[in-house]
Amino acid sequence: MPTRDFVYSARAARVVFGAGSLQHLEREVLQLKAERALILCSPEQHAAGEALAARLGSRAAGVFARAVMHVPVELVDEARDVAHELNADCAIALGGGSAIGLGKAIALTSALPILAIPTTYAGSEMTPIFGMTEDGLKRTGTDPRVLPKTVIYDVDLTLTLPPQLSLTSGINAIAHAAEGLYARDGNPVIALMAEEGIAALARALPHICAHPDDTAARSDALYGAWLCGTVLGSVGMALHHKLCHTLGGTFNLPHAATHTIVLPYALAYNAKAAPEAMTRIARAIGHDDAPGGVYELARANGAPASLKEIGMKEDDLDRAARTACANPYWNPREIQYAPIRALLQDAYDGVSPREY
Ligand code: NAD
Repeated sequence: MPTRDFVYSARAARVVFGAGSLQHLEREVLQLKAERALILCSPEQHAAGEALAARLGSRAAGVFARAVMHVPVELVDEARDVAHELNADCAIALGGGSAIGLGKAIALTSALPILAIPTTYAGSEMTPIFGMTEDGLKRTGTDPRVLPKTVIYDVDLTLTLPPQLSLTSGINAIAHAAEGLYARDGNPVIALMAEEGIAALARALPHICAHPDDTAARSDALYGAWLCGTVLGSVGMALHHKLCHTLGGTFNLPHAATHTIVLPYALAYNAKAAPEAMTRIARAIGHDDAPGGVYELARANGAPASLKEIGMKEDDLDRAARTACANPYWNPREIQYAPIRALLQDAYDGVSPREY
């Protein structure tokens, strides 16, 4: 048996988890030594943002309901100015990765503490990773200042997440944990979280697709999302995330659906180079094979099946493969153009993953 050798850096965030945990919102704002919160959300969640403001009463400074994907830098400047004009001393990011991304970008350039209330399974609330788009280019980075100080996970807020988005968002979370299991800087604590997170989501997602208001399954999924987000925030990501950043960033494909389609193929590419991780992923999903298990979980519950289906052009596959091979993230197996191109073709066609 090899000796253990690792570094484990825990990320400090206060987590309040449970059905109805939003009732503790005012207590949590005060815990941050804040008195006036600016609420950030997407236009689609404006009503939920207003409801949060009503709940906070005089402790709400206002609602900024304009969060969008990719966090345009002009929007960050505007939201920060609004916070200043309204004398806000903290920001509450309510929503998925887009609203939380806006909160993180504000935290990068101001001293406002962020309280996150996630309503999808993307996991951004647990990571110090930020992204911003300027002149059409997305810049990402890591900075501990962007990490929300407090995260409230209230399962009741996830009941409205449509089944299809729940499924793809949940598999997006599984992708964080799967790559965490073969990360170069992985460690035993993170591996425990990763396996438990995948298992919780794999168990919950079929129930959610069949019965979107199943609170117990929703709770399991949100618990899994927290664990998987923690993994993403703690260790480095590899081929799968590089492919998805390329496909999302350069070809503007939808975030969660892209993760869902690509994951089985990325795992198949890495299968031989990371056998222990594959065993743990397969065990967590309850399947004899990690790539096949993810593929079936997605297919059986009605996820989009191919890159073609979500708007990728076949003519762009060569460019996508070249981009993914340029400046690759560390990966357990060397990144080579021909097998990456073959993998992308299979993801485009939506056929079963195989050896690459
Ligand atoms: P999203 O935040 O864009 O949300 C998708 C849509 O779902 C939005 O219209 C939103 O209003 C709606 N929605 C969210 N929760 C809902 C609910 N409970 N009920 C009904 N509608 C709801 O999508 P996402 O997948 O959560 O986030 C994607 C973005 O987050 C991407 O830009 C991605 O790059 C980023 N992200 C960043 C990190 C990180 O660590 N920095 C991690 C994961 C994702």
